[in-house]
Amino acid sequence: MKLLEGKKALIFGIANKHSIAWGIAQAFHEHGAELGFSYGIPQLEKRVEPLAEELDVRFVEMCDVTKDEDIAAVFQKAADHFGQIDILVHSLAFAPQEELAGRFVETSRSGFALALDISAYSLVALVRAAEPLMPNGGSVVTMTYYGSEKVVPHYNVMGVAKAALEASVRYLAADLGPTGIRVNAISAGPIKTLAASGVAGFRKMLGYVGERAPLRRNVNQEEVGRTALWLCSDLGSGITGEVVYVDAGYHILGMPEPPEKWEQT
Ligand code: NAD
Repeated sequence: MKLLEGKKALIFGIANKHSIAWGIAQAFHEHGAELGFSYGIPQLEKRVEPLAEELDVRFVEMCDVTKDEDIAAVFQKAADHFGQIDILVHSLAFAPQEELAGRFVETSRSGFALALDISAYSLVALVRAAEPLMPNGGSVVTMTYYGSEKVVPHYNVMGVAKAALEASVRYLAADLGPTGIRVNAISAGPIKTLAASGVAGFRKMLGYVGERAPLRRNVNQEEVGRTALWLCSDLGSGITGEVVYVDAGYHILGMPEPPEKWEQT
């Protein structure tokens, strides 16, 4: 059974084949959705176009989410191309690399503003632009990380941005619920991608989580993709304003040390 037959999905945030958004696109395609892609900077076109071809995607547009005019233009083009859409995927974030190392207290005013603008405010702006294209309801999904709730070394201002993103999910879900639009976030465990490699010590983080998570491994893009599929299909019809963890269970731990290590002491 195909879960998204007849559905149209606009996906923001594919940079390359390692992107979480690409895992989501593949799951949606497999389940019959018609897709549109938007990428953030002109240099990505050569990477995104071949991926679009692979899934027979005809709508591929650049949109820098810091620019209101780019957002207006991409949604006008989406309206012309698709008429209506059913699903919006927001899988993007950014903070200057120097903010993702060292002490959080050193965060600059401009780094803080840029991280919050691209990583959190953009969800509000994209949802506002998408609402008129979803007159029959729909589903929005964004990507977050556990560093929003707990201190994770070097995640710094991105943790603050993800906290704002998760709060925005709840406010948007309350605003748009009456029109049948659901808004949810997926909190993924660490996955090796372009954005993740900007966090100092990311490889260490992967190893640490993989050793300690209840499932004793890390998660991958396909697992996030399948969760987005569930949330955005009718299987998720009763869920809105939620943060769903796809992290091999890491976030449930109060003392992240495998029991076998305790037994040795
Ligand atoms: P990625 O580098 O593949 O994707 C990040 C995307 O953000 C890129 O496509 C980039 O072009 C886009 N972007 C940055 N600035 C932009 C702008 N101004 N306008 C438009 N697009 C812009 O990395 P990813 O890990 O797939 O990241 C996707 C989402 O998943 C992000 O929100 C990230 O924080 C989140 N996430 C990642 C992990 C992880 O470990 N990789 C874990 C949890 C959450």
